[in-house]
Amino acid sequence: MAAHVSLIIPADFCIYWSLIYLTLLVEVQFSMKSFIQTLTILITAAFIFGCPPKHEEPLTVSLVATSKSEHLVMGNPSGAVDSVSYSNNYLMEMPQYVVSYNRDRGIPNWVAWHLNNTWLGSVPRKDTFRPDSTLPENWYHVKKTSYNRSGYARGHHCPSADRTNTVEDNSATFLMTNMMPQAANNNSGPWEKLEKYCRNLVKQGKELYIYAGGYGSQGTIDNGHITVPSHTWKVILVLDNGDNDSSRVTTTTRLIGVDMPNSNDQTSRTDDWKNYRICVDSIESRTGFDLFSNVPVSIQAVIESVTDSL
Ligand code: MN
Ligand code: MN
Repeated sequence: MAAHVSLIIPADFCIYWSLIYLTLLVEVQFSMKSFIQTLTILITAAFIFGCPPKHEEPLTVSLVATSKSEHLVMGNPSGAVDSVSYSNNYLMEMPQYVVSYNRDRGIPNWVAWHLNNTWLGSVPRKDTFRPDSTLPENWYHVKKTSYNRSGYARGHHCPSADRTNTVEDNSATFLMTNMMPQAANNNSGPWEKLEKYCRNLVKQGKELYIYAGGYGSQGTIDNGHITVPSHTWKVILVLDNGDNDSSRVTTTTRLIGVDMPNSNDQTSRTDDWKNYRICVDSIESRTGFDLFSNVPVSIQAVIESVTDSL
């Protein structure tokens, strides 16, 4: 959940002059004589010590901001930041899910979302694929039609069917910043089966913290604007419904990880998602992310080293 933000301190701010001004305000309350004496001393001091030299660049102080997003309760896996200088690890927090966007790849690094029964309703799929207008204006905005004739589907990270409580929530999943080019057999095969499995867990009284993304490359589409990942991965932390979720993760908490080739040749529509399971530690080493970083390290070490077998 740690994100770095910049606090800009104006370079021409002069603490000395502020102190002088404050002192004068106090002195003037007492006597004019004392006021003139103090003024003389202060002006002399100001000449001797002077103001600090103006900085060429504003001073930048790094602070640690805490995200309030329910989707990042278990951590921000790449330390994504909501700043244009983090163009390939750009944090986009929305009510429905959170994205670390990669401008140069034209797809997310990861998308995080919390799934519990409050997100599930009966709103039908809106199919409102559209560019994300909240991206910085001068960045390439992936279009609704950018995947046309590429041979790849517009594959959701946060699935449409995980956000069916309101029209607005469902429509948010169709932003192109929630998509990656996905092979049809993967997208409509084991990937979709795992999505359904997750919603079934929720219907059985669980709540989930999910991260998904695509890593690697097998070329680009849309004139090089969009990288086609070679693999799609997803990790799911499973809890019983409850409160204070981050404090309820233990060494026996169920973690599911999968890594699927983004390929019609290497996957089949009929494949079971369970065949693609892998431990979270392996996904971390393949992606370079620290998943579930808000969970105590000693607990991560145990649950991330186990491959789910239920
Ligand atoms: Mn680990
Ligand atoms: Mn981790």
